[in-house]
Amino acid sequence: MRQRFVYVLAAALVLWAGGGALGSVGAAQPEMPAAPGETTIAGWSVSCKDFRGHAVTTMRIANLGDVGRAGVINRVPVIAIDPDIIGRLPNKLQLFFYEHECAHHVLGHWFQSSMTMETDADCWAIRQGRDKGIFSRDDVMSFAPFLANSGGSVFGHLPGPQRAKQLLSCFDGQ
Ligand SMILES: [Zn+2]
Repeated sequence: MRQRFVYVLAAALVLWAGGGALGSVGAAQPEMPAAPGETTIAGWSVSCKDFRGHAVTTMRIANLGDVGRAGVINRVPVIAIDPDIIGRLPNKLQLFFYEHECAHHVLGHWFQSSMTMETDADCWAIRQGRDKGIFSRDDVMSFAPFLANSGGSVFGHLPGPQRAKQLLSCFDGQ
């Protein structure tokens, strides 16, 4: 089970780093950030640095097929965001997804993956938002209906209702 997970993950990363993603990089619109790693999500100025302290570049990529993804292109850590998908979400949830992708870089998931990396990234994102004063507990509760239809994934996202519950326990934890 674990071996299969690692294989599936590796295949996905290769595809992202070398395949489909590069094909659409020409269409990407890198932000003109105020500082390296800074971008604007739902009107908030946010930034992300990876576990080495390197700035993470945010790119808008149409037809990404997912709200966001974390990856590395030519050794540059990036967060790719589908502007159409994220644009349909409430502001705070947009910020949550951004922080979730950032968490993969902060926690170094590129170099050391684990079965819990999605839940770890969720938790980091929630606590980051809480500690920055972006998320209230009510904000986190408001995410639940949007996660409810999600069925989980081979990459370790919990099914929606469980994921929403886990987010709250992260908010309430240290
Ligand atoms: Zn993730």
